[in-house]
Amino acid sequence: MGGQNESMSDSFAERLLAWFGERKRDLPWRKNKNPYHVWVSEIMLQQTRVETVIPYFERFIARFPTIHDLAEAPEADVLKMWEGLGYYSRARNLQAAVREVQASYGGVVPSDAVQIATLKGVGPYTAGAILSIAYDVPEPAVDGNVLRVMTRYKLLYDDIAKAKTRVRIENILRPLIPLQAPGDFTQALMELGSLVCVPKNPKCDICPVAADCEAKLAGVQSELPVKTKAKQPRAEFRAVAFVQRMIGGERKFLLRRRPEQGLLAGLWECPHIEHDDTQTDIPLLSEHCAAEYGIPMQRSERMPDFEHVFSHIHWHLRVYRFHVDDEFHGNDAKHVGVDGLPEHVRWVSVRELGDYTLPLVFSKIIRQGVSV
Ligand code: SF4
Repeated sequence: MGGQNESMSDSFAERLLAWFGERKRDLPWRKNKNPYHVWVSEIMLQQTRVETVIPYFERFIARFPTIHDLAEAPEADVLKMWEGLGYYSRARNLQAAVREVQASYGGVVPSDAVQIATLKGVGPYTAGAILSIAYDVPEPAVDGNVLRVMTRYKLLYDDIAKAKTRVRIENILRPLIPLQAPGDFTQALMELGSLVCVPKNPKCDICPVAADCEAKLAGVQSELPVKTKAKQPRAEFRAVAFVQRMIGGERKFLLRRRPEQGLLAGLWECPHIEHDDTQTDIPLLSEHCAAEYGIPMQRSERMPDFEHVFSHIHWHLRVYRFHVDDEFHGNDAKHVGVDGLPEHVRWVSVRELGDYTLPLVFSKIIRQGVSV
């Protein structure tokens, strides 16, 4: 069905909905209009591809089928189910918000635009998505896909990195939302952005709204949308210690828990320190582990380097394997946790790893470390 063959007398919404009816993907969160499921899917889909989200969503909903289940779950379980998806504050905010829904709204996601906007992690986009998709409230939900489609369709050179552009597009969309199908309209616009009006080489020849798309008519669709470049992430050089020893005939490695606030809050990782690229990092790492954990480090060997890019930091990780003498028993009096380690540090075997939530890059480092 080509856009050019569509009747111009059909409205934008009618053409879009007809296309969506035929082409929409069968996604697990489209099986019903459960507001909690819509909410979880929308949070997971932020900065993450649909294909990646599908298995996470299915596992998450199987483990926490209702708001009550998620509200009551220990945070560590929630983070474990989120492991590898990144941006862990999304999971924390989701649980905090779900607890709020449980406490203040009897476990029912509010269908009121003002109430829903007060929930943690629920911005204008997520609020619009839940209200329209789950409750058929005629509220716009403007994400990156919708910004792209609409700036092209309306030939707008506004910078989509700016919040006021989102507000402008919301105002353009409001009168276009068909009252009989706000949820389908929201999903159809997003679907058009994901499948047809894609960032590079939009597929205008199969687009249902091509006949009156102003960017297409002007032949400038590839110039839009305008987006100012985000700042490059700052480079940070870190030396990582994969510290291993035998305990009770089992190989274990050292993990520490990150602080409760800030980057990757509360997740587990191998110890690491920042260094400038000119420093010799092995003595610094050894000193760190001796001073912080009371562990005398011995032989070391270089492992492959790793990298991880956050939105604002680019980690360059130089990784070393350290061996700890079997004679060491770790009973330094200043440490009070398990094995004489500080409370936030553990010796962990591969078998026990399932109890700990790790950022993806440290899962990779440990997989590499235990493969030898
Ligand atoms: S740019 Fe092309 S794909 Fe995008 S809305 Fe216009 S006609 Fe459709």
